[in-house]
Amino acid sequence: MRKRGRTADEVGARVGAGTAGAGGDLFAPGPNGDDAYGEPILRTVRLNKAFFMGETIYAVNDVNLAIEGGEFVLITGPSGSGKSTLLSLLGGLDRPISGEVILDGRRYSRLNENGLAALRRQKVGFVFQFFNLIPHLTARGNVMLPMRFAGRSAREVGERADELLALVGLTDRAGHRPSQLSGGEQQRVAIARALVNKPAVVLADEPTGNLDSKTREGIGEIFGRLNRETGQTFIVVSHDETFNGLADHVLHMVDGWIERNEVRSRH
Ligand code: ADP
Ligand code: MG
Repeated sequence: MRKRGRTADEVGARVGAGTAGAGGDLFAPGPNGDDAYGEPILRTVRLNKAFFMGETIYAVNDVNLAIEGGEFVLITGPSGSGKSTLLSLLGGLDRPISGEVILDGRRYSRLNENGLAALRRQKVGFVFQFFNLIPHLTARGNVMLPMRFAGRSAREVGERADELLALVGLTDRAGHRPSQLSGGEQQRVAIARALVNKPAVVLADEPTGNLDSKTREGIGEIFGRLNRETGQTFIVVSHDETFNGLADHVLHMVDGWIERNEVRSRH
């Protein structure tokens, strides 16, 4: 996994999802056909992340992306190809060694840690393979947690939590703790929690990796419905067939770079 020394334009041309330069596909209409000349909701410019483990490993290697608002992007690739690292950079959980991430016009490199955390809270929802719920809180308590910091009234927070639990079909499990819920139910709580602040972008890293096949379909159904109905942008790392039919783009990662960007037409 050494750096291959491609230029941004070469990578961009291969990716076809937008390049750092003018023209190219950056200003092409999104697959939804709307907002033809708008800025993409999420863009990266020559994004690099390396780890130094005796030798330098480029986990993310000169990645240029332009993702339009409302798109459903699926990221696949072998283990170790950089999918999780890329997702962390896109969500501002980690800093690149070079390059830029721009979310809704805001450049991460110009934000300090507090500014980045605030942007993340407003605009990004995260869903992980291991649900990361707080064990001693109920489903409702877990969903309410991110809202406690946003200065809203207790009543408003409770109502929003109930609305989200209904959305993921868990109204009757609101008072259960994570240990009293199935894996699929826990992941639905985690999805509800990710959505509390109405994020423009939902990032999910192998969200069904720990679930059985029937439960996986339920998660796919929720993501698909949200994407269609709210216009939220989804970027999902997964090999799960469940998401295949939802994707506008499938990005195939190999050794830290995007080997192929498969563009799908919307049904
Ligand atoms: P994927 O999610 O596609 O399996 P990752 O993004 O987790 O891949 O990892 C990409 C590469 O970066 C791998 O070679 C991995 O070993 C390396 N890597 C990821 N995180 C770290 C870290 N914190 N320290 C050192 N190497 C890391
Ligand atoms: Mg991973």
